[in-house]
Amino acid sequence: MILANIGVNSMKTLLQNLIRLQQLELEEIQVADATRVIADLRNQIPTQILGHYDRLMARGKKGIVPVRGQACSGCHMRLPIGTISELMKAEDIQLCDSCGRYLYLEEVVGITASSAAPETAAPTPTAQPKKKAARKKAASTAASAKPGPRKGRAARKT
Ligand SMILES: [Zn+2]
Repeated sequence: MILANIGVNSMKTLLQNLIRLQQLELEEIQVADATRVIADLRNQIPTQILGHYDRLMARGKKGIVPVRGQACSGCHMRLPIGTISELMKAEDIQLCDSCGRYLYLEEVVGITASSAAPETAAPTPTAQPKKKAARKKAASTAASAKPGPRKGRAARKT
């Protein structure tokens, strides 16, 4: 799939927008004004790409997935080396030949997807992905929400 030379930076931006859109729509990340951010991202992504993404998402698939170990992390099919090298160049958007999802390399795009979010609409009870629960919870926010031990009760008089 060749898109008219939109350049490396715009390609990265496009992929980042798609990934972010997907993360927002799947509620993998939370932002204050999600509806507006989603609408904004959709405006920036070419309709043709968005259309394909939406068709995948409508079928309960992720529209864009990272490449892991030279394989599509959506369907686990090994990718041709040509596809990988195209992804490294980041000049053109690449689809997985077998499942049709958009592909990206995390190191190129600079986004690491949370591996702790499995696809919801895939009823595959046998194939359980390895859980790599390396998710750090924001302990600092929880700590700051603790009520202080000081209570100005002594100051109260009737
Ligand atoms: Zn695939």
